[in-house]
Amino acid sequence: MRKGKTFIICGPSGVGKGTVVARLLASNPTLYFSVSATTRPPRAGEVDGVHYHFLTKEKFREWIDADEFLEYAQFVGNFYGTPRRYVDRAMDQGRDVLLDIEIQGAEQVHAKRPEAVRIYVAPPSWAELERRLIGRGTEDMEKIRSRLERGRQEFAVAKDFDYFVINDTVNRAVDDLLAIMRSEHCRPDERIAEINRH
Ligand code: 5GP
Repeated sequence: MRKGKTFIICGPSGVGKGTVVARLLASNPTLYFSVSATTRPPRAGEVDGVHYHFLTKEKFREWIDADEFLEYAQFVGNFYGTPRRYVDRAMDQGRDVLLDIEIQGAEQVHAKRPEAVRIYVAPPSWAELERRLIGRGTEDMEKIRSRLERGRQEFAVAKDFDYFVINDTVNRAVDDLLAIMRSEHCRPDERIAEINRH
C-alpha cells in the first residue's frame, strides 16, 4: 500500500485557514487532519480533542520531554505542537495528512521530512487580512497587531514554499488545494511504484 503524504498549510492569522481546511476535509474524507496541542485557552465553540488538545504549560512540557512532538513552536505567547504518533499512524494507513501550523513548525517538519509539501495560504491583500482579523473579533487590538506583524514576517520566509494559494474566495482556495494534492500524487516515484506493484 502506498504511504500517505504530508501537506503543511501555513498562513497568517485571519486568512481563513480554518474554513478552507474544514471544506477540504469535507470534500476528501480520507484526509487526516492533525489535531495540535496548545497552551492557548479555547475560543468559544472550540472543542478539546477536535480543534486542539488544550494543555496546561506543565503538560505541554511533559509531552516535549517525552518526545511526543513532531515539531513545536511558540506563537504570540503560547505553545503549539504536532503530536507525532497520530500523524505517523495515519500515513502508515495510506492517508494524506494535513498540518495547519505556523512557519517555525513548518521549517522543523521540512528539516526532518523534506518530502512534506509546504503550502502558504495568502490573503488577497494586507488590508483585507486586517479587516478579516478585526471582523473575527476573537482577539484584542494588541494581539491583532502582534498577529499581523508575525504574518508579515512569515510571508517573507514563505517564498521558499512549494505552493502559494490566495484565499480571495474559499472556493478558489479549496480548488487550488485539491489540485495541488492531486498533482503531488502524480509524481513519478509514486506512479512508478504503483505500476510496479501490479
Ligand atoms: P490559533 O491560535 O489562531 O488557532 O493559531 C495560531 C497559529 O498557530 C496559526 O498560525 C496555526 O497555524 C499555528 N499552529 C496551530 N497548531 C500548530 C502546531 O501544532 N504547531 C505549530 N508550530 N503551529 C501551530
